[in-house]
Amino acid sequence: MAEEFGTVVIGAGIGGGTVVESLRDSGYAGSVALVGADPAAPYYRPDLSKKVMLENSDPAESALRGDDWYAAHDVSTFFGSPVAALDPTGQTVTLDSGEELKYGQAILATGSTPRTLDVPGTQLGNIHTLRDAGDAVAIRSQFGEGKRVAVIGGGWIGLEVAAAAKTRGCDVTVILHTDAPPLSSVLGHEIGEHFEQLHRKNGVKFIKEAETTAFTGSDSVEVVETSAGSVPADLVVVGIGADPATGPAASAGLTVDDGVIVDEHMRTSDGSILAIGDIANAHNVLREERLRIEHWDNAVRQAEVAASTVTGGSKAYDWQPYFYTDQFDLGMEYVGRGGADDEVVIRGDRAGGEFIVFWLRDGRVSAAMNVNIWDFGDELRALIGKEVSAERLADEQVPVGQL
Ligand code: NAP
Repeated sequence: MAEEFGTVVIGAGIGGGTVVESLRDSGYAGSVALVGADPAAPYYRPDLSKKVMLENSDPAESALRGDDWYAAHDVSTFFGSPVAALDPTGQTVTLDSGEELKYGQAILATGSTPRTLDVPGTQLGNIHTLRDAGDAVAIRSQFGEGKRVAVIGGGWIGLEVAAAAKTRGCDVTVILHTDAPPLSSVLGHEIGEHFEQLHRKNGVKFIKEAETTAFTGSDSVEVVETSAGSVPADLVVVGIGADPATGPAASAGLTVDDGVIVDEHMRTSDGSILAIGDIANAHNVLREERLRIEHWDNAVRQAEVAASTVTGGSKAYDWQPYFYTDQFDLGMEYVGRGGADDEVVIRGDRAGGEFIVFWLRDGRVSAAMNVNIWDFGDELRALIGKEVSAERLADEQVPVGQL
């Protein structure tokens, strides 16, 4: 017989973990189940490509809550339990094990799945994507002085892993499929170039316009074959983007179009199902547009909105996107949503490594990024959408709070 719950949260990443916490914090008295494919309790995923790889930290140290928190807060956990089906008519979640959970309210927080390459040789050992703690531990176990690491893709995972591997003594090559600098599809050419130079200065090599065509080796990978030549490798990390894990939502008949369509309160097209995080294509009331964002801050904040919706509150999706990265001696925070072709304005000492970047579109600030300068978070956030001239943004005589 199916077990019955007031709320079943499907997906036990940062989003799912934060939903159950927020439900209990806001006094939700119903029974709660938290279901996740990962065998571990929810953890802080950004640590995987930073602390876990750089400091050899145990991923368990990055847990959102200790294992005993869930029982102490009357949350039934089903970790290591992928979901096989979501039936909105019977309001039932079926786990791979065959176990059935009935829900009054379901919250989908299934995250995303790393893309993989469809080329010969992917079955060889030491070829990884990075999504969970197991991936991070497997990757770092191959780090070592002189180990040859090939990173495919110049996005956030590619560059953070490249920085970690290089810092740990590896010989690192980043393989890019275009001739543009890394990160340029998000930050534009000029700032992408800044990241490329940061990596080159630290000894990371790049090959460009290199489509990966095959992996070769006997048991483990030995060479990455690309259209621009062969790259010897003891370890390969593929970071070529991720797809929203919308399988359960789609099979349940929810409206899915580049993610699960939700309103500003995270409500899907089904009255008893909410969706948050990487999978949610959500109406942002501040920006008056739909956004699907794959960063942890978004998952945490949408989780709080979902908990509010379940408990009769009125929280809405009303903030600017935010994320951060740490690579070598560069730490940055980014707020807003710039376009790769937006005008770039630099304030401060870019060569010295401490500066703020503004992106301008139609005379308005579309995004801002503080690099190795802290304590301006609120001021920069408040500037998004404001009309400010490039001259004024660049003028350090004008305090950031008065722009
Ligand atoms: P990503 O940031 O979207 O970057 C993917 C990169 O792979 C892009 O540079 C893309 O280039 C390139 N690419 C796409 N297809 C390729 C191919 N066939 N061969 C070679 N390169 C290819 O994705 P990610 O780095 O894999 O990260 C996965 C998700 O985790 C993302 O949503 C990311 O935001 C998130 N994440 C965030 C952080 C952070 O916030 N600090 C850290 C880690 C991960 P083009 O742009 O030219 O297509």
